[in-house]
Amino acid sequence: MALWKHYYTPATVEEALALLRTYQGGARVIAGGTDLLLDIKQGHLPRPEALVDITRIPGMSDLRQEEDEFYLGAAVTHAQIVDSPVLAARATCLVESCGVVGGPQVRNVGTIGGNVAHALPAGDGTTSLIALDATADVVLSGVRQWLPLGELFVGPGESRLDQTRDLLIGFRFRLCGPHEGTAFKRIMRPQGVALPILGCAVWVRLDESGEHYADARICIGPVSKVPARAQAVEEALRGQPVGAAAVERAVTVARQTLHPRTSKYRATAEYRQEMIEVLLRRVLPLAAERARTGEAIPEGVGME
Ligand SMILES: Cc1cc2nc3c(=O)[nH]c(=O)nc-3n(C[C@H](O)[C@H](O)[C@H](O)COP(=O)(O)OP(=O)(O)OC[C@H]3O[C@@H](n4cnc5c(N)ncnc54)[C@H](O)[C@@H]3O)c2cc1C
Repeated sequence: MALWKHYYTPATVEEALALLRTYQGGARVIAGGTDLLLDIKQGHLPRPEALVDITRIPGMSDLRQEEDEFYLGAAVTHAQIVDSPVLAARATCLVESCGVVGGPQVRNVGTIGGNVAHALPAGDGTTSLIALDATADVVLSGVRQWLPLGELFVGPGESRLDQTRDLLIGFRFRLCGPHEGTAFKRIMRPQGVALPILGCAVWVRLDESGEHYADARICIGPVSKVPARAQAVEEALRGQPVGAAAVERAVTVARQTLHPRTSKYRATAEYRQEMIEVLLRRVLPLAAERARTGEAIPEGVGME
């Protein structure tokens, strides 16, 4: 039996929304299909009557710099993000996270919008977009609006998007400026190709002298049920001199405030707790170094 009956490739957002409306819950949005088709095949989702492919809609595959900001269409693939020199230099964590998603086949078709819409607390691209403080361009119940990305998530695999009616159109975030830097790393099972045991994205701003953390945003996942910032750890860093003592302070606060769960397929809570510390010790100095030198060379992209 076919997985779906009708497949549409609308040319505009309006057309896509009209198609979804016509099927009244019987159609689903598809982008790269790397998550969706598996979910349908494995019976996690009912077979839809129709699939509405959003990858041919002009604008939804746009990557563009808008002065100090960047606009990323929801249908941009992980491979396109990895190939962007602007993102490599000024949103390095995103390039690093999209560069380790699956293998080349998955990165060539899997999209950043699909990663976010799937709403897993360990989605690699999502982790970095949260650290970049991205906002999302969405249509929810027919109303187009910009939402802080974190407000989109409801629970593991659940977002405010009804993927039979709503659309994620794109993202906007501020690119790193002077004294700012980012980094992403993850802990993965050997030969693992799906979600990580743990991923960590960090954005930092140093003060003018480059000696102190002026501000920080940290996303570590999966820790809570939704992708979220580690705000207590961020707070612990503000005003601290850059160096080993600040990292240890962040690690201590992480130990006290972050409580990951055991996952039957990936890791125990205890292991994850230790890996949070390992990741913070790797990622914080790297982001600070990039902020200090202004040199952001993504590490190991596509090498995992
Ligand atoms: C072998 C393999 C390895 C993987 N490895 C990783 C990994 O290392 N890290 C990681 O984070 N993920 C990984 N994934 C998961 C997946 O590839 C990514 O999450 C990918 O970004 C999903 O994008 P997609 O375009 O394929 O989404 P799709 O499968 O097309 O869609 C996913 C969900 O989002 C909805 N959707 C998609 N786009 C929109 C939109 N614009 N508006 C509203 N709803 C939308 C769909 O209806 C569906 O429910 C892996 C998957 C596979 C199969």
